Amino acid sequence: MKGRITPHLRARLDRPGIAAQYVRSPLEDALPAFDDPLMEDSHEPVRGLVHKYPNRALVKVSYRCAAHCRFCTRIRQIGDPAGTLKPADAKLLIRYLEAHPEIDDVILSGGDPLVTPAMTALLIRRIREIPSVKVLRIGTRLPLQEPDALNKKPQIALLDLIEETATRLPFHVLLHINHPDELTDASREAIRMLRTRRVTLLSQSVLLRAINDEADTLIDLFRELYHLGVIPYYLYRCDAVRGLERFLVDPERERSIYRSLRASLSGIACPLLVEDQAGGYGKQPLWDSDPSCAS
Ligand SMILES: *Cc1c(COP(=O)(O)O)cnc(C)c1O
Ligand code: SF4
Repeated sequence: MKGRITPHLRARLDRPGIAAQYVRSPLEDALPAFDDPLMEDSHEPVRGLVHKYPNRALVKVSYRCAAHCRFCTRIRQIGDPAGTLKPADAKLLIRYLEAHPEIDDVILSGGDPLVTPAMTALLIRRIREIPSVKVLRIGTRLPLQEPDALNKKPQIALLDLIEETATRLPFHVLLHINHPDELTDASREAIRMLRTRRVTLLSQSVLLRAINDEADTLIDLFRELYHLGVIPYYLYRCDAVRGLERFLVDPERERSIYRSLRASLSGIACPLLVEDQAGGYGKQPLWDSDPSCAS
C-alpha cells in the first residue's frame, strides 16, 4: 500500500519526530502481507465491531486516516475504502450492542472517526440512545495530522454533536501522539479548542525505536500534554506486526525509560506502559511490580 501524508505533515518533514513516523521503508516492499497480531479479526461478531473484553466494544468506523503511520497495528487494513461502515452495517452493530447490555463502554476508532464525520455522527446518535452504554470514547490523530480539518463544516458539526452528547454521558477523546515535534502551533490550537467541548482529553502513545525511545523526549511530550489539559493514558509497547520489527524497543531500554518517566512526571502526567494482547485479557501493564519503576 502507498504511503499517505497530509499537507500539514509534509510541511514539517524536516522535524525528525514526524518524518520517522510516516516515511515508508523499502523493507516493507519485500513483504507479502501484514498480519493481525492482536487477532482482532477473530473477535469481530458483526462487521466493524471488535468485542474482545467483556464490557467494552471497539468500533472500526472506517480504515481511513488523514495520514498513514508506518507502525500502525492495523496497517493490513488502513487506507482500504471498503472498510467504511455503511448504514446497514451500523444497524447490525447497534442491534449487537442492544443485545449485549454488558457492554457499557464503546470506543469509536478505525481508522480515524473524525475523517468520516457522517458515519461517525450516525453511530453516535444511535449509540447514545442505548441505555446500557454509559461511556463513549473516540480515538483520533487528526489534531496532529491535519489540525485545520477540525475547522471544516462536517467536523464542526460532529464536534457539536459530541459536545451535546457529552452533556448526557462521559465522552473521552483519545489523542494518538508520539513525539513533541507533532505539537505544532496549529495542533496546540486544535487541542485547546477540543478542551472547550466538554470532553475529557486523554492521550495514547506508542513507544517506537529511533523515534521516541529517549526518556527526555517522552518527558517533554507528556509534560506538555499535561500542561495542555490532556491526561496521558497509555504508552503502548509497539505491537509485533510482521514486517514492522524495526520499530520495536529492547525491553531493558524500555524499562529504563519507564523508570525515568515515573520519577520525573506528575502522577497524572505519566501514562501506563502496557502491552496489548491477542487474547481477551485486556492490556497488560509492563514493569508494574518493578520496585524501581514504582517510585
Ligand atoms: C484497547 C481496547 C479497548 C479498550 O481498552 P481499555 O484498556 O479499557 O482502554 C477495548 N477493545 C479493544 C479491542 C481494544 O483494543
Ligand atoms: S492514525 Fe492511527 S489508525 Fe491511522 S494509520 Fe495512524 S496509527 Fe493507524
